Amino acid sequence: MSTLIKDRVTILNTYPYSDSSLIVKALGKLSGNIDIIAKGIRKKSDSFILQVLNDYELTLYAPREGELHLLKESNLTQERHYQNPKNWATALCGAELMQKQLISPDENRQYYELLSSFLDFLIDLDAEPLPVFWRLLNRIIHLQGLELKTCICSSCRQKKPEYAYTRHDARFYCQRCTQELAQPRDLHILSEEAGRILFHLDHIGNHLHELKLSKSTIQEINDYFEDYYLAHNRKTLKLKSLSVLEQFYI
Ligand SMILES: [Zn+2]
Repeated sequence: MSTLIKDRVTILNTYPYSDSSLIVKALGKLSGNIDIIAKGIRKKSDSFILQVLNDYELTLYAPREGELHLLKESNLTQERHYQNPKNWATALCGAELMQKQLISPDENRQYYELLSSFLDFLIDLDAEPLPVFWRLLNRIIHLQGLELKTCICSSCRQKKPEYAYTRHDARFYCQRCTQELAQPRDLHILSEEAGRILFHLDHIGNHLHELKLSKSTIQEINDYFEDYYLAHNRKTLKLKSLSVLEQFYI
């Protein structure tokens, strides 16, 4: 018999499997990112089915080499409802982002708590939700030990509104330093709106009500984070749910 594990998890995604089972991607407080098979669960009543973005206390059989965790028991510990479809779509972006993270076991709890506070914050938020996702992204970057200060010029190190960035290394420059760049190859000049959001990103919670986001600004900031991710992780950050969320904007 395999070992039993008890863990509190947030459900990130689910996929139907065979006639009655479900494959579940979850972020566990102790276990980090795990894949679970819930056998026969779709034949049970709705209240048993694990729902995306909710938290459960799970009892699982630990996987043997190359296998998935097997669900034994589940208890709902936190249900999350999003009245606003934009907030819900933003919450899904956070869940998809978490699935892509390689988390070292001693940081499982930090990632779990980061996601929980992100998901909880969005429930009653009555303002633009998307910057909250960018803040999550920025916090994950910090957890990975990388430094991303979106309010400091890479050249003069002063706290100034960012004016532009170079795409290959995702470094920001203020207006004066941009003019002094020797070879401004692949330079992207930021729109005023994108520059302002990036400048306030660490404390964006205080500015959400002032923001009116246009689709072009959103794409600009999403592109920035993609460039950053590629430059530092050498892999692309393509989130399906983020393209869905962009559809909410004009
Ligand atoms: Zn500067």
